[in-house]
Amino acid sequence: MDTQSAQAFDLDARDTTRLRVLQCIRAGGAISRTDIARDLDSSPATVTSACGALLDAGMIREVKAAPSESVQRGRPRVMLEVNADAFAVAGVKVARRAIHVMLVDFKGGEIGTYLHVLKQSCMPARALTHEVRRAVELACAQSGLDMGILAGIALGLPGFMHADSAFMHWSSSVEERNVDFRPLFQEVLPCPTFLDNDANLVAKAEHLFGAGRGLRNFLVVTIEHGVGMGIVLGGELYRGERGCGAEFGHVKVQFEGAVCQCGQRGCLEAYVGEYALIRDASVGRQSDVHKSLQDILDAARSGDALSHEVLERASQILGVALASLVNLFDPEHIVLARSRPKFDNPYTDAMLDALQRNTVQVDAPLPGITVRNLDETMWAKGAAAHGIEMVSILKIRERGAVDAA
Ligand SMILES: [Zn+2]
Repeated sequence: MDTQSAQAFDLDARDTTRLRVLQCIRAGGAISRTDIARDLDSSPATVTSACGALLDAGMIREVKAAPSESVQRGRPRVMLEVNADAFAVAGVKVARRAIHVMLVDFKGGEIGTYLHVLKQSCMPARALTHEVRRAVELACAQSGLDMGILAGIALGLPGFMHADSAFMHWSSSVEERNVDFRPLFQEVLPCPTFLDNDANLVAKAEHLFGAGRGLRNFLVVTIEHGVGMGIVLGGELYRGERGCGAEFGHVKVQFEGAVCQCGQRGCLEAYVGEYALIRDASVGRQSDVHKSLQDILDAARSGDALSHEVLERASQILGVALASLVNLFDPEHIVLARSRPKFDNPYTDAMLDALQRNTVQVDAPLPGITVRNLDETMWAKGAAAHGIEMVSILKIRERGAVDAA
């Protein structure tokens, strides 16, 4: 459970219990009141009361258990499940040249995905918000979904941002610095919209659906145009006080080194991000020889010494930086994820080798490492999962206000 978010939304004790019950039902698929009380170590009366409020609000529904699960003398056992039809949520990831949208029902079932191509990779905040609206509209139209049914949109952006206040300090996708997205969202988008760092959303997706399932302490490092990171500590996302934590891409690897897109010098990203590799592999060449990382990989494979050298060096720099993460966090697991191009074996081996050599040596195995070629929908899937959590909190708070009135 994202208790940080619950705290940020000021849920009282009763509403927090309702949220925990809802999340227990979500995790259980279909679960009886008795089992919820046992799982939450709570009294049956408390659980029954919370379930009553959630049923009234339409967030859950009763279903009859399969005959084999019916244990109460001939009477079918009543189970509870999340009401998939209660709300729809859009998960949105802003990438360099496209906006990915995933529409899900309240149970997390996929309704549809949509890719909205962007002409520019960086634009004013207002223009970007309008592009997000357009992408969500088109996604809904394609899936035959009335946009009015959306209860929330969760938006993942690269960069430094404070999730609870939707305040963006900096993003490579936005022209301005220091943007309060709340009024923009309210003006342009049709429903409550939640902002988060995109790598946090991949961490969320890995935690719920991927290599981080059931783990309490793990890291997700995303390597794309830039380098991002999501930190899960004690089962929860760690965002930092100002929302600027986990900026692995801007860890300095060279004093007064290469200029980074954040404006500072010597950042990791300025040595291993796609734009950095294109810059380094183009030294002394016509500027359009390498347009993408794929071009550099292709050139290296056909024997181009400079391309090979650039990739080898970047892999080692990344491996050393990853070793610092292991030394700092001692995580159970690290997921290294990239969307495109796929990880290339020789360079992945160079990276893992540098990681191993630079990790503090103890007589215990290194954390597990998953090298994952990320399905591009994973970002939007993580955003959708975040959206469902946030909508759950909002709806429980709304219901609580009705009960208090
Ligand atoms: Zn930087």
